[in-house]
Amino acid sequence: MRIGADTPAIITGGGSGLGAANARHLAGLGAKLAIFDRDADAGQAVADEIGGVFCAADVSDPESLTAGFKKARSAHGQERILICCAGIAPAQKTASKGQPHDPALFATTLSVNLNGSFFAASQAAAGMSVADPITADGGRGVIIMTASVAGYEGQIGQAAYAASKAGVIGLTVPMARDLARDGIRVMAIAPGLFKTPMLLGLPEEVQQSLGQQVPFPARLADPIEYAMLAQQICENDMLNGSVIRLDGAIRLGPR
Ligand code: NAP
Repeated sequence: MRIGADTPAIITGGGSGLGAANARHLAGLGAKLAIFDRDADAGQAVADEIGGVFCAADVSDPESLTAGFKKARSAHGQERILICCAGIAPAQKTASKGQPHDPALFATTLSVNLNGSFFAASQAAAGMSVADPITADGGRGVIIMTASVAGYEGQIGQAAYAASKAGVIGLTVPMARDLARDGIRVMAIAPGLFKTPMLLGLPEEVQQSLGQQVPFPARLADPIEYAMLAQQICENDMLNGSVIRLDGAIRLGPR
């Protein structure tokens, strides 16, 4: 799929980190961006910076998403790219000091990371599926979800987060199969350790030490490296139904 001035795109979690990097990158390629985020200040700031539209949306709430899609589509038309970056990464052990994992925290993590990715993808797919094809193969759009290497090897304290990301990995093939007849591709990226507010909150020495654990290149990844892969996924029509690790070969240890 060619990305150009006629390509409406939506990015959830577009107000920060990986989502914001994607938004800036796609806008630089000419796409028309709608930023979905629950953080209105951050989302509006990115939208203003790139000439996009901000839609206040909580991905775990389908009705709030529907309102966001309505606003984005009335501004730009049917989105042809959806990138799901909204996510949270709380940490809690399965049981600690005689207390079980907080059930509400477990449910919220799945609700945002897993349900939220699926709800957004499903609403985007519904719109794309009734739009005109835009590629010679009959392609109508592409959906990119964000998993995590923790979805394969979650660390201590990551049971909820890892389960939510393993869920995203599990969605990728059946969604690609569901949507194949509609010409909609579904991919996921499993990032390793990226320099975003999620990690930049850690002390500098911890960031350095995390970077040193990456086999090569031995550093934290730059969000632009995610955006470059997302661009390739959009443009390469043979990429479908896969999860791509973007991690410098890191395999997370227990802690
Ligand atoms: P980030 O900087 O914290 O950005 C995430 C954005 O999503 C924030 O603006 C956040 O708003 C928003 N958000 C959270 N819950 C939401 C909801 N329910 N509805 C709408 N927006 C919501 O994080 P990031 O590092 O860019 O992470 C992006 C994605 O990549 C996440 O899914 C994360 O799990 C995944 N990932 C990141 C890394 C990494 O190294 N950074 C590694 C693997 C996977 P608030 O600020 O209000 O929470």
